[in-house]
Amino acid sequence: MQNGFKILTPRDMQHNLSKVSDMITTQPFIRWNNNIIDKVFLPFEREIIKKIPLIQEPLEDQLMWPYSKDGTYTVKTGYNVLKHWQDSTANGSTTNSHSHIWKKLWTLPTIPRNKTLLWRIYQQALPVRSALNKRGIQCTIVCPRCLHKEETINHVFMECHRAAKIWFGSKLGIRFDNNHRNFTDWLTHNIINLEKKDLSYIASIIYGIWYARNSQVFDNKDIDDRVVIDKALENMLEYQMSIKPEQTIQQNLSNNNQSRPNHRPSNRWTKPNQGTIKGNCDANLSVEGRWGLGVVFRDEDGEVLATATWELPGYNDPETAEACAIYHAIRLAADCCFQQVIIESDCTNIIRKINDPQIRARSYLGNYVWGINCNRGNFRICLFNHISRKANGVAHVLAKMAHSEPNRVWLEEAHPNIVPFLLRDLVH
Ligand SMILES: [Zn+2]
Repeated sequence: MQNGFKILTPRDMQHNLSKVSDMITTQPFIRWNNNIIDKVFLPFEREIIKKIPLIQEPLEDQLMWPYSKDGTYTVKTGYNVLKHWQDSTANGSTTNSHSHIWKKLWTLPTIPRNKTLLWRIYQQALPVRSALNKRGIQCTIVCPRCLHKEETINHVFMECHRAAKIWFGSKLGIRFDNNHRNFTDWLTHNIINLEKKDLSYIASIIYGIWYARNSQVFDNKDIDDRVVIDKALENMLEYQMSIKPEQTIQQNLSNNNQSRPNHRPSNRWTKPNQGTIKGNCDANLSVEGRWGLGVVFRDEDGEVLATATWELPGYNDPETAEACAIYHAIRLAADCCFQQVIIESDCTNIIRKINDPQIRARSYLGNYVWGINCNRGNFRICLFNHISRKANGVAHVLAKMAHSEPNRVWLEEAHPNIVPFLLRDLVH
């Protein structure tokens, strides 16, 4: 199945199906129970199921994995299947319009859940109330957002005045008129014709509308239309900014020490890969003639391993102070006997210089770069990465704190001042 082997039909409580055998009848011979299948599954999935040939020998229901000889799932076979599936969808091995649509969706620069949602709308496989009702599920059919009309896919995403406000208020300023009667047709047209960037934005808005709808249904929470609009844009930008640095880190790790600077810093803090310790550092120049420096080291679970503050006499040059913070950070990492570290700073220039083999000690900041590079030998892997200020919140607080609590090291405990910022990094 093109949708990743996942059944898109919403769960049906009425027929209480839990096993494949519940959908098979044995009289007069073993075959699919078309009656049940037609009632429970969405049309396109009915057809797929009915095409699966059944054997006549009775077999107990069991979890299966068709891609290894003994039916046992292994990471390797799982990976191979996914890879094959990705390749075949990316190459467009079939030419029908389904695969064309799927191929375009699959390669969209957006969060996977947005792609799946678009695909479900395209397949008319969304559990809106009227669809549930048609399949015999007792529930109200009224739209939970406007409490006015029947909830269909068209209504949720196009006709409902809540949705209309969101589309119009978005950067696209879309206003549906009488030419747009069918949301799925409109979406399909856009999937085929729009550039991926614009389509990603549309996908974010659609997800926002659906999320707001679900919050109303399941949490009885009314999300303001403005919030939906802002969140959609924010999510899209955040995703686009986050994919690049992640890839660079991956590349860096596979190239061992040959790290390269990131040109597009991530807006959010991310946990390091397994076995790697991430250190974030920052400098503060708010007290005249003194630098406050701070660093926090966290592991792959986001747990704090060490934090430290330093206060030193310093002059008014933020970049030099930032370089000094990195220098202190790498020395502390060596003292803690970390083996594999990534050190992050929000200062582009110093990160670029550290990663540039041409930099001489005598150049501006060169002495710090030299000192930092001398310490690299203490580690199996040691990388330097540029991130945005937003992603460096904990270190920022520590650097400020350095003036009131100077020259301290905390091991495996978090100072209360930084706790809210640690949490913020983890939930983002
Ligand atoms: Zn409505």
